[in-house]
Amino acid sequence: MLPYVMVPEPNDSNTKVLNDAFFAAMSAENPRAAIQALLASLGKAYGTKRAYVYLLPPKGTEFLCANEWCAPGIEPMSDVTHGLTMDMASRWFGDGEPRSLLAIRKLDLVPSFNKDYASLFGPRGMKSQILGKLLRGNKPMGTLGFDDPDPNRFDELCKLMYPICAFATSTVNTQNLLDRMRTVGLVDELTRAGTRIGFYQKAENLPAHLPVGVAYLDVAGLQGFNNVRSHKSGDELLVGIRQILATEFQDDQVFRMSGDEFLVFAQGIPEILFKSAMERIKSKLDELSVYVALGMSWHSSIGDDYEAIVRQCWLACSNAKHEWERRGGKRLGDDTDDDKRLASPHTPSSSELFDTHLHLPCYEGEDFFNHLNVWLAHLETKRVGLAAFDINYFKLYNDIYGREAGDMLLETYAKALQRLATISHGVAGYLGGDNFCIAFPVDDTLEPTRLVEKVEVQISKHAVAEGFSPAIGLVLTNNFDLGTNVLYDRALVALNRVKGDYTNHVALYDEQRRERDRENQLLLIEAQNALSNGEFTFYLQPKVDINSNKVVSAEALVRWFHEGKIISPAQFVGLMEKSGHIFALDRHIWESVCAWQRSIINRGLKPVPVSVNVSRVDFYFDDLATHFVNLVKRYGIEPRLLGIEITESAYSEDENLIEGVITKLRDAGFRVLMDDFGTGYSSLNMLRSVTIDALKMDKGFIDHANIQDGSDAIIESVIRMAHRLGIPVISEGVETEEQCDSLRVMACDYVQGYYFYRPMPIAEFERLLTTDSKDQP
Ligand code: C2E
Ligand code: MG
Ligand code: MG
Repeated sequence: MLPYVMVPEPNDSNTKVLNDAFFAAMSAENPRAAIQALLASLGKAYGTKRAYVYLLPPKGTEFLCANEWCAPGIEPMSDVTHGLTMDMASRWFGDGEPRSLLAIRKLDLVPSFNKDYASLFGPRGMKSQILGKLLRGNKPMGTLGFDDPDPNRFDELCKLMYPICAFATSTVNTQNLLDRMRTVGLVDELTRAGTRIGFYQKAENLPAHLPVGVAYLDVAGLQGFNNVRSHKSGDELLVGIRQILATEFQDDQVFRMSGDEFLVFAQGIPEILFKSAMERIKSKLDELSVYVALGMSWHSSIGDDYEAIVRQCWLACSNAKHEWERRGGKRLGDDTDDDKRLASPHTPSSSELFDTHLHLPCYEGEDFFNHLNVWLAHLETKRVGLAAFDINYFKLYNDIYGREAGDMLLETYAKALQRLATISHGVAGYLGGDNFCIAFPVDDTLEPTRLVEKVEVQISKHAVAEGFSPAIGLVLTNNFDLGTNVLYDRALVALNRVKGDYTNHVALYDEQRRERDRENQLLLIEAQNALSNGEFTFYLQPKVDINSNKVVSAEALVRWFHEGKIISPAQFVGLMEKSGHIFALDRHIWESVCAWQRSIINRGLKPVPVSVNVSRVDFYFDDLATHFVNLVKRYGIEPRLLGIEITESAYSEDENLIEGVITKLRDAGFRVLMDDFGTGYSSLNMLRSVTIDALKMDKGFIDHANIQDGSDAIIESVIRMAHRLGIPVISEGVETEEQCDSLRVMACDYVQGYYFYRPMPIAEFERLLTTDSKDQP
């Protein structure tokens, strides 16, 4: 007999529904999306109108809607029904039954015995409701509810509320933890200046066109100061320097880059103000008993390489320090008895610079960089790898397990890194906080991806604390002239990409990718501003009847007018889709098109249908059918004047959702066009399952056509098949007369392309409108 049995999933319907909902939630990208998936799954299964979670912010007194799911056609209520207050909730939460439900089978009976409840939930216009508690300890954290479940399944849903609420509570807790973690590590605990990582995070997101004043400061005498006074005084000194800087610059412009180095990165400051602020700072620093080396510069724009600016200042700062040392720079305690201590064979170890009680088996601080330079100078291989290493959420680890445990974790990692360094003939070092660095020779033939894999393997071997795994940024180079500081900075840039990531631990520095990422990031920021500045408008590209050559309709194509140039959608539509900003842009274009159609009608011109583009992402932001219905209602235009182009690849993503929307749109009188036909995968099958009003054949078909005797076999069969289903075909991207002639032979109905018209400004299109219109595609 087998020592185990396989237990199949229970098939009673409630358990199955619950399991499905949990699975849907667990495959979501983040906790917030998980709750949404949970609500949608349960909302649908129990035939409810709405499912939602309201949360009480930690110091708030009013519950706010965090998630709401609505059945198709049901209006969301999240805007209307804010206002469940702590005061009202505490009567329910404090009813002595920690997990009790509020289950109202017939809401119309409620006003007679609870007026508060009735006035709060009355506006939801529902007949029944189930509300469960989400608890933080025994205190209210939020509530999860369903409106109008299927009356026959009301009791079943009530029973499931306990596991549902438990799951939701734990998911909300995870979200809260993640929210908290996101801010950890960005601010230096001692001085309250930003950290090095905080700096990179900020700098990556700054618009390139801003002017900037930059100053790099190095507290040259800190070692001596610590030695002569105490570490406590050293700490006070650092806090004091940060305060001096804060008298002239904002909190988010001052960073502590390492033990004794500060950076001022003041964006948006005019040159004259920066220089006078730095003059005042210099005179205050001169009064200190330590020497602070300073390098600074002002730039009319940050440009596309902020690191170069920082490096330049760092270099100026380090030259100033060397010059001061060369001139026999005096430190605190020189010319006094303390002199002897400083001059004595005991030079303070750099561990004292960072942390007095850690005894790590690797080099520390400056020592590490000194050894690294020597090591590089004697290296026989042509390539090195340098990895910056930090521990995810280390500060949180300290908070949870205590400082000693934190130190032990550092020691464990230091030992592991040192062992790796020994084995690989490299150098390992500790750079303060939870930052380590290791450099090692890399074989010329080793593929970078293979190296990343190898490092991942090492991490899984050495990841000692669950959830507090290291994040690693890796630079691979044969250009040793860059200098170790630059290499380390680059490794930190790569590290930023995986910091806080539970699944990817290693990121490789890639100059091109970083450039691209940064440019994209800047473009996205600009696009958001552009939206509020009204820089987006649309051009119209006519669609022409292939037999009569007459304009029958047009497509609206977004155009971004930015700093005197037109930016093409290819540059920003994809980016905005990825970041979720596309919906705001599309809404703006749809609305502008409707407003324009209205103005055409008002001016007595004859309107033609104009189609707008819908991104696949838009489907997840709103109930599009309701959105479009409301839109045309608002502008008083007929739905047939608004065509809706849905790109073919959207169909394959969530067929049910998209087919549902298309059906509703067509029922409401809109014309739905399948855009870019031929670029997706399931084109042919799709045409059978969803009814559309026109098919737009992608430009690729025409570009790759193999025209023989005036016809191309593939194009012809697509057109024939569409016609068999009663769907007219528009050919996109028609550029020549020959293409147009063959398409006519192949019975294509309409063409859109440069051969007839390029996309044109609205005014130009209006002049064309005098031409008679024909059947619409
Ligand atoms: P699409 O919807 O397939 O639009 C057709 C694209 O082909 C347009 O490019 C148009 O200018 C171009 N085109 C038309 N005829 C010719 C031709 O004969 N030769 C060539 N080479 N190109 C031709 P555009 O305006 O750059 O738009 C590119 C894509 O960006 C659009 O492809 C659409 O997917 C997207 N897009 C444009 N406007 C919007 C918008 O408002 N919202 C969303 N979500 N996407 C948009
Ligand atoms: Mg289109
Ligand atoms: Mg297209």
